[in-house]
Amino acid sequence: MKAAILTEVGKIVVADTNMPSCGRDEVLIRVKLGGICGSDHTLYHGRFNVPLPVIPGHEAIGTVEAVGAEVTGIETGQRVTIQPNFSCGQCALCTSGHGNICPSKIRLGVDTNGVFAEFVKVPARYVWKVPDTLPDEVAVFTEPLSVGVHAMRITAPNPGDNVLIFGAGVMGLLVLQLAVSRGARVTACDLAEKRLSLAKQLGASEILGPDTSHETFLNTFDVIYETSGVSTALDKVIRLAAPLGKIVVLSLPGKDHAIPIDMVVRKELVIRGSLIYTDEFPEAIEILQSGKVKTGPLATGRVSLSGLDQFMGAFASPERVKTLVEI
Ligand SMILES: [Zn+2]
Ligand SMILES: [Zn+2]
Repeated sequence: MKAAILTEVGKIVVADTNMPSCGRDEVLIRVKLGGICGSDHTLYHGRFNVPLPVIPGHEAIGTVEAVGAEVTGIETGQRVTIQPNFSCGQCALCTSGHGNICPSKIRLGVDTNGVFAEFVKVPARYVWKVPDTLPDEVAVFTEPLSVGVHAMRITAPNPGDNVLIFGAGVMGLLVLQLAVSRGARVTACDLAEKRLSLAKQLGASEILGPDTSHETFLNTFDVIYETSGVSTALDKVIRLAAPLGKIVVLSLPGKDHAIPIDMVVRKELVIRGSLIYTDEFPEAIEILQSGKVKTGPLATGRVSLSGLDQFMGAFASPERVKTLVEI
């Protein structure tokens, strides 16, 4: 099969490689469309420190090519998407419903070969059927949207709450729409004009852009979703949070940074991390089908497998939100 292989840090080569063989409890999927995620960049630039070569990519839609002998409920030819983090299922966290933070979880496209290839094999319990009425270019957003749905389970705004989306990239723009659909009054903060205009288009009532002074927004927001990952973000959102405010952190800044902890105490703020998802895929698929969350404006470009290396090596333009990969 044809695959994009990360052979060394900063180098993806498209080559013919062996088809994965489908184990007894696994499903072989013919990939049709993929999506590029921030973590693909992290891997490409060598910041995951995992053994190479590996086929990257974890966001995908495709059709079932073959199923293992023990697989039930999934048949060849079905359109499916993949939940790409495989938890151990045995540890105390897994058995109490927190498989997302399982210390032994396997990340598709990082720890094991991913979706930027003609075929990928996946444990059957991580394969979700996609309704025929949901187009590929929408269904491919199921994975990132599940991250947003999980953040809403961690902390959802009440109708009328002042919500701040800090960072209007793909994750911010998905969470923004989820918050708007719950009746919150949403403000979006970003530096890029393109992202701010998308935020407006997708329901933000106010914009905090590069020219807006944060001073006027101090102690304002009831719920804040930090998706930017920039080093100063947590310091800023703590200042912008209203007394008793809740801050949900979806980003991984990669390093520790100082925060104004006195302010956290004086305002009795709650800060919670939100990592990927547990069982949110069916809900995300339902939301995509309902049209409550729009993905069309977020799909800002497409590349082919052979264009991946150049794309990943190029400057990460703020004009791009989600780039899809044609297999
Ligand atoms: Zn992703
Ligand atoms: Zn586990």
